[in-house]
Amino acid sequence: MPAERRTYMTRRQQASEALRARGLAALLLSPSSDLAYLAGYRVHTSERLTCLVIGADGDATLVVPELESPRANAAAPDLAQRTWSEIEDPYALVASLVTAKGDVAVADQMWSLFVLRLQAALRGRGFQLASLMTRGLRMRKDAYERDALRAVSAAADRAFPRLLQSEFTGRTEREVGAELAALLREEGHEEVTFTIVASGPNGASPHHETGDRRIARGDAVVLDFGGTREWYCSDITRSVHVGDEVDAEVRRVHDVVRRSQEAGYAAARIGATAASVDAASRRVIDEAGYGERFIHRTGHGIGLDGHEHPYLVRGNDEPLEPGMAFSIEPGIYIPGRFGIRIEDIAILGEDGRAEPLNQADHALAIVH
Ligand code: ZN
Ligand code: ZN
Ligand code: ZN
Repeated sequence: MPAERRTYMTRRQQASEALRARGLAALLLSPSSDLAYLAGYRVHTSERLTCLVIGADGDATLVVPELESPRANAAAPDLAQRTWSEIEDPYALVASLVTAKGDVAVADQMWSLFVLRLQAALRGRGFQLASLMTRGLRMRKDAYERDALRAVSAAADRAFPRLLQSEFTGRTEREVGAELAALLREEGHEEVTFTIVASGPNGASPHHETGDRRIARGDAVVLDFGGTREWYCSDITRSVHVGDEVDAEVRRVHDVVRRSQEAGYAAARIGATAASVDAASRRVIDEAGYGERFIHRTGHGIGLDGHEHPYLVRGNDEPLEPGMAFSIEPGIYIPGRFGIRIEDIAILGEDGRAEPLNQADHALAIVH
């Protein structure tokens, strides 16, 4: 459990205040990062309903299947618990805990299996997305969370130079990806969530599925990888080249992406809008003539989820605040040939500047 018990209690009180401020009756959280954030309980969703009910009145109750009660108790001993046996109706139980007037907010990741039955049990109430209110709590990371993000980013940084020592030529993307995953674990990740190894033309697909292509001399390779430590996520991208005969356009594109990423960093300050960071990164790529080849937003928030608010994207005018953590990851993708992306995580400090959490070298590394 990655924070102290009283931290969870404080967060639940803040959630109750946010409910009252919005005139909502309750927050209903099935297994999700919102549940982990407010209860210190991480659990996978199954067909049996687990649901944290936080009321506008300040009451918090964890509804759990009887067989999972010992586990929930160990994780969250401070939470009131209501268990349901295999023959009871958990939806009526949740409904009985919603006492205030108003709509309810449900976890964004709640399965329709649960949403539809809760809607039937809470007939007459409107349903909203929990993130509309929990995002306000989760976006600003506290000191504990900032340390957790620093630690997991540093672990990802340490894995990268070790991977550069290995052989790329003649191995498949999958083999390199498996080695990268092992290095991430050795360097302190508890779980590895993804290792994208996108070689040659595969690099032009930003979320390429690491596969059986054999890496060859002359390939540019996009390496985008991350996982979790103490529940907090890492996410870093570096682009490397196999062999030292680098095509002039690969060099040029890498240089443009690097300057674009630096421009994003320079623009990421307290009070600047999320969209303005995207615009600053995009401008460099536009001016170099590759605007059409930058086919995704510049970044995303990160914390308990790998992708969360705030999103650095055109149209998002929310101002950046101290404690926000997000990626800055411009890329250029040339179909049929190659892709280049550079990504680091930044946290906005109280001094107004973006602190880079990833220190791994940005230069186009040559691998063999
Ligand atoms: Zn991505
Ligand atoms: Zn990434
Ligand atoms: Zn990312």
